[in-house]
Amino acid sequence: MDVFSGYMNKLIEELSALPGIGNKTAQRLAFHIMYMPKERAESLSRSITEAREHVQYCKECFTLTDQELCPICANKKRDHKTIMVVENPRDLSAYEKTGKYEGVYHVLHGAISPMLGIGPSDIRLKELLQRLQGDVDELIIATNSSLEGETTAMYISKLVKPTGIKVTRIASGVPVGGDLENIDEVTLLRALEGRTEL
Ligand code: ZN
Repeated sequence: MDVFSGYMNKLIEELSALPGIGNKTAQRLAFHIMYMPKERAESLSRSITEAREHVQYCKECFTLTDQELCPICANKKRDHKTIMVVENPRDLSAYEKTGKYEGVYHVLHGAISPMLGIGPSDIRLKELLQRLQGDVDELIIATNSSLEGETTAMYISKLVKPTGIKVTRIASGVPVGGDLENIDEVTLLRALEGRTEL
């Protein structure tokens, strides 16, 4: 039986298509939106449209930003000779929250996975190698400790080692298969400080 109107159903359907949101939560959110003052609902939908329209990849590290360079790459006080490689912008954000890392990042947007058919050319690896032609002292590989993350780390290390740039891997204090963003800051810091040369 169709309890709600077509508009309401459409909203619930769109919301439940988001990751981690089941049908019940989608319904709850849809009702919440309906009870909001109209201006707030408009502001919510506008911020989705505007973010989607203006947010792009940083031309240096490929994280998401609405500027040509993200605030980290644009910051002259950061150590631009130390690059930390992460799988996605969420991992970057997790390391930034520790407030202790002073280098810059490189976001791969994925990891190599032969099983899923994701090869080296499907992630931002070529762009990383281009960056390494500049003045770089250390490359910290902070991909996840999943099979894909480890495969990617090994692959990058093999490519970069011959260049003479120091390649390190964050310590394996990070739980296996753990998504970096779900790990607390202390664990992340420990993993970073305990990094070992590959
Ligand atoms: Zn950047």
